[in-house]
Amino acid sequence: MNNNFLVRAGKIVTVSSLGTIYEGAMIIKDGRIAEVGNWNTLQSQFHSLPVIDYSDYVITPSLVDCHTHLLEFAPSSLYPVTPATHLLTGKSILLHALRSGITALGEQICGHPNSDFSITDYRHAVKDIPLDISFATTSISIGFKEMVHYTGVTKSKRVRHADLSDPSLVKEIARQSDYPGENLFLNATPANFTADEVPRAGEIIYTLEELKCIVKIYHQYEKQVGVHVAGEEAIELALEAGVDVLHHAHGITNDQIKKANLQGTKIVTTPMGGTHLEPNSPENILKLIQNKIDVSIATDAYLPPYPSVSWLPFKDQSLLGPDVYMKIAHPGMKLLQENGFDENKILALLTANPSAVLGKGDKFGKLQQGMDANFVVTAGIPGLEITDVEDVKAVYFRGDRVVDRLK
Ligand SMILES: [Zn+2]
Repeated sequence: MNNNFLVRAGKIVTVSSLGTIYEGAMIIKDGRIAEVGNWNTLQSQFHSLPVIDYSDYVITPSLVDCHTHLLEFAPSSLYPVTPATHLLTGKSILLHALRSGITALGEQICGHPNSDFSITDYRHAVKDIPLDISFATTSISIGFKEMVHYTGVTKSKRVRHADLSDPSLVKEIARQSDYPGENLFLNATPANFTADEVPRAGEIIYTLEELKCIVKIYHQYEKQVGVHVAGEEAIELALEAGVDVLHHAHGITNDQIKKANLQGTKIVTTPMGGTHLEPNSPENILKLIQNKIDVSIATDAYLPPYPSVSWLPFKDQSLLGPDVYMKIAHPGMKLLQENGFDENKILALLTANPSAVLGKGDKFGKLQQGMDANFVVTAGIPGLEITDVEDVKAVYFRGDRVVDRLK
């Protein structure tokens, strides 16, 4: 099928140096963006191409959720799966992300007590899905009364605390990791458990020396390293050891924000929860941006929302997934707008910035010449003007329309 066409929009928020274009259009050729500009100009230049008319809608880059657990943990948390149906269920959850306007994911493979799949199994399972998926292999420490540790390269087999810093194991995790996700848990995680089940959540797992050795191994492989981290003491260790990406960074202090800026440390905020501490508030996200930190917002899904925080609209503790991405981003995005930030810069928190964390900043996350034609057709700017997935009217992945709510 000929996949070349001209797409017209009432407004295009490019998240590139082109900014916002009213009465805009894009030329899509072979799954990529060939041109972005004004409808009148492009129409006269390319009048032979078929036109898809979205002049009543907004077009923006599709969303990039760079911190998720959809394939490994979500299937058995949500459904009564067996090994025979686990991966199939995982794939249906990925399609749910696609219907939510997300075309790229950063998936964590941590090791799981009840599922014995390898990262190769996961990579193989997603091959035919119209989503760009990067995997981070990680180790994980869960804060039960008796602490347990797993790794993404040892499947369902438990490892000892000491193994977490064993250079040969760390090398294998680093080798198999595509991007700086939460490659290790600097604090023990509460995961999806209730507070009474995980009394040791938050406990610091690594010494500064251990952490420095691990960072060095990743850098020797010419890879960046990311960590799950929360609380002043643990964040200090991460900054001191030269970690590249902080995931969560709940409880980061003003001095630490300044230090992160000086070091060029990226921060993936998770306003829904994910650690033992209160998650990133809208004010925290604003402060990070004002201090010129490269900030992404991610869901960390599936996750129960952190109880009783004022900026989350959820009533109970049921697990939430990719369909709430815009909802959890909205309060922070709104506050940025009130503080005078441009809509392109604000939308970058869900598009260009997470795409850079995935190492794919030159491939997608912005609408400009040469990028993959990954975009959404919406009733407003995702997360800023709309938060309901029903307002994502169409999703395009590499030039193919993969979701269509306008039919
Ligand atoms: Zn996570």
